[in-house]
Amino acid sequence: MDKYGIFIKDADLTNYNTYGIHTSSKYLIKVNSIDNLVKLIKYLKNENIKYYILGKGSNVILPDTKSDGVIISLELLNEIKIDGNIAYADAGVVLSSFIMMLINNNLGGLESLCGIPGTLGGALYGNAGVKDVCIYDYLVNILVIRDNKLISLEKKDILYSYRDTEFKRNNDIIVGASFKLEENNKEEMLNIVKENRLKRQKSQPFEYKNAGSVFKNPENDYAGRLIEMAGLKGYSVNDAEVSEKHANFIINKGMATSIDIRTLIAHIQKEVYNKFEVELELEQIVIDW
Ligand SMILES: Cc1cc2nc3c(=O)[nH]c(=O)nc-3n(C[C@H](O)[C@H](O)[C@H](O)COP(=O)(O)OP(=O)(O)OC[C@H]3O[C@@H](n4cnc5c(N)ncnc54)[C@H](O)[C@@H]3O)c2cc1C
Repeated sequence: MDKYGIFIKDADLTNYNTYGIHTSSKYLIKVNSIDNLVKLIKYLKNENIKYYILGKGSNVILPDTKSDGVIISLELLNEIKIDGNIAYADAGVVLSSFIMMLINNNLGGLESLCGIPGTLGGALYGNAGVKDVCIYDYLVNILVIRDNKLISLEKKDILYSYRDTEFKRNNDIIVGASFKLEENNKEEMLNIVKENRLKRQKSQPFEYKNAGSVFKNPENDYAGRLIEMAGLKGYSVNDAEVSEKHANFIINKGMATSIDIRTLIAHIQKEVYNKFEVELELEQIVIDW
C-alpha cells in the first residue's frame, strides 16, 4: 500500500484525536495525491478492507480498541489555489491556515471560523461554524469520491443544516472545495480573528485535551446551560470530566478512555432528560471501528 503514500504499520493514534485517547490502528496511510486516494479507495473496497478517514480528530471520540483496518489521513493533500475571489483548497488543509491565507489576500467571509480546529474536510463533513456563519455560507462546490469516481457537487445539491450534512449518512470522501469570497479589509479581519481567539481562550478549557462542544444546542437553548443547571459541572468518570469552565465541554484530565467519555456522556444525557425533559443530541462523533 506504500505506493499510495506514506504507510505506517501499528500506528499510534493518540495524536490523531484531540481528546488524546490512547488508541491505535493496524495501518495508517497518508495519501500523497488525489489520484492515489481514488485508487486506494478502489483497492480497499475490492479487497474488503475497512477504512476510516480522519482529519485532525477534533470532533471524534475514537474507541479504545485497536482498529484492524486502515486509517486514511489527507494531511499531505494540502494545496490551496486562489484566483480573484474564488479559492480552492484540498480537504487536508488546516481550516485556520486556509482562512489566514484568504485574509492575507483580502478575501473575507470565513474569518469568524478561524480558530475552529481541524481540516477543511472535517469542517465540510460536520458543517462547522460559529453563531452566524457556517462553512457552507461561501461554498461553491465540493469535490468528492463517490462510487469510486471523483465528482463535483454544487452547493445547491448538497444537504446541510446545523452541524449536520448528508456526508454523515453516505460514504463520500471529501477531497476539496471551492469558495466564492468577498473583498474585505485585511486589518479588520485580523482584528476579528484576534478577538475571537481571546473569547475562546476565556470561555473554553484549552488547558486540557477536549474535542469542542459535546452536544448540539437544542432549539432556543444552550446545551452548556442545561448541563450546568443539572449541577454537572466538575462531574467526572475517572479522568473524563465536565469542564468547570464550559459545561458543554468534556475534558481529559490525563488518562481518560473512550469508555470513560462515553459513560460520562450517557450520564449527562440521563440527568438533563430527568431534570428538563430535553434529549441532548451529540455533536461529537462516536466511532466504533
Ligand atoms: C477546542 C475546540 C473548539 C471547537 N470549536 C468549534 C466551533 O466553534 N464550531 C464547530 O463547528 N466545531 C468546533 N469544534 C469541533 C471541530 O473542530 C470541528 O468539527 C472540525 O471541523 C473537525 O475537523 P477535523 O478535521 O478535526 O475532523 P475529524 O474530527 O478528524 O473528523 C470528523 C468527522 O469527519 C469525517 N471526515 C474528516 N475528513 C473527511 C473527509 N475528507 N471526507 C469525509 N469525511 C471526513 C471523519 O471521518 C469524522 O467522521 C471544536 C473543537 C475543539 C477541539
